[in-house]
Amino acid sequence: MTELDVRSARPDQLVSSDKGKWEIIVGLEVHAQVTSQAKLFSGASAAYGGEPNAHVSLVDAAMPGMLPVINKFCVEQAVRTGLGLNAQIHLKSRFDRKNYFYPDLPQGYQISQFKDPIVGEGEIEIEPDGEEPVTIRIERLHLEQDAGKSIHDLSPSETFVDLNRAGVALMEIVSRPDMRSSKEAAAYFNKLRSIVRALGTCDGNMEEGSMRADVNVSVRRPGEEFGTRCEIKNVNSTRFMQQAIEYECRRQIEIIENGGKIDQETRLFDPDKGETRTMRSKEDAHDYRYFPDPDLLPLVLEQAWIDQIKASLPELPDAKKKRFVGEYGLTAYDAGVLAGDSDASTYFETVAKGRDAKLAANWVTQELAAALNKQGLDLASSPVKAEALGALLDLMKDGTINGKIAKDVFAKMLETGDAPGAIVEREGLKQVTDTGAIEKAIDELMAANADKVADVQKNPKAFGWWVGQTMKATGGKANPAVVNEILKKKLGV
Ligand code: MN
Repeated sequence: MTELDVRSARPDQLVSSDKGKWEIIVGLEVHAQVTSQAKLFSGASAAYGGEPNAHVSLVDAAMPGMLPVINKFCVEQAVRTGLGLNAQIHLKSRFDRKNYFYPDLPQGYQISQFKDPIVGEGEIEIEPDGEEPVTIRIERLHLEQDAGKSIHDLSPSETFVDLNRAGVALMEIVSRPDMRSSKEAAAYFNKLRSIVRALGTCDGNMEEGSMRADVNVSVRRPGEEFGTRCEIKNVNSTRFMQQAIEYECRRQIEIIENGGKIDQETRLFDPDKGETRTMRSKEDAHDYRYFPDPDLLPLVLEQAWIDQIKASLPELPDAKKKRFVGEYGLTAYDAGVLAGDSDASTYFETVAKGRDAKLAANWVTQELAAALNKQGLDLASSPVKAEALGALLDLMKDGTINGKIAKDVFAKMLETGDAPGAIVEREGLKQVTDTGAIEKAIDELMAANADKVADVQKNPKAFGWWVGQTMKATGGKANPAVVNEILKKKLGV
């Protein structure tokens, strides 16, 4: 076993074929766009969208004689991310030119970091659904420029180039080949996303391409050396990532079992067909003729500055999850769901403050999450703000409404954005605790259902029918505890 190869797949992770069992080996190179107003080496806006070529400085367009100037804030964001990944921060790093030609790369090279990246080895813990935690090692994080965009579908005979993205800062985060299933790969990507979002170093917006992964996949017989890997480029959803890995490992197993060998190549995943196909044969580092960028001095950082950034790090998802379990008594699952998303955890803590935290967690992870999901909204655009949901919980707590009516009120809050108190008042939904009104409803029910009175006295299971009918007769507004009590007395059960 080599140093690179500390993990073996668990038996349940092995893939079976006609000719035996196989182990899947996955490593990820994730490109995360740095949250920053300006680009990595120019003052042009890094904002998403905008008219084509509206955010392009002379540096981004690679006009002769232009010189790059490092954006200190982007460096700080990379350091912050490295610290969040429990990684080594290198006090001295360097920028290299990665040479290749592409119409959307006017310099003819990408400024990247090859030999001496700003961040070295780190690690994060992942917890794939229902599985034991696993540590995934990070090999490095380096800073580099994004390229522009070639647009091929506006004209049948021409290609257009939009350089808005050219020069935007990216962090390339490279993992070790430590993942042993598509599920682990997805869990790693999601964990990385929740960490950079919590740090505020990348918005993690996958639709806008802020986070995308190159997925390295190979297969081997358990215990053998790593096989030849293929790289699936630019996967921008964890669902596609899992499909691509599943497809790719089957493809490789079939080739090897039929006596063939895997060519190291770069492939593309086609989500419509659910398959990967050859894009180009894989290039190696030497194909790019890397050399230190003579326009940029080595990047030298002071330990004091790094310590200062470290001291300002926000609470990260793992620590937050632990705190939610300890402080609020949440289940590990609920705590993980809430802590993994900074919007969700802020929302939850606002609702939970001074209230029943488990009840708050239930409402946020279930009622609210389902409702938002149905409407295609996220928490930031939720018509029900945390304070309003808290007020609804208060109305339940003080007995103004019962749990069933609370769900109706919540539906109206979603629809109208009104405060729960106003809705209860307007619709006359206050809980009926007046025993006279409840007794009257029960007397009427008993008079009309003599047979069921006899039945419930022999069969205690029939009691539920009486509770349901009484609630119905009072428009769902009766206090369930009072209903139970009076029913028991009157029915003699
Ligand atoms: Mn890259």
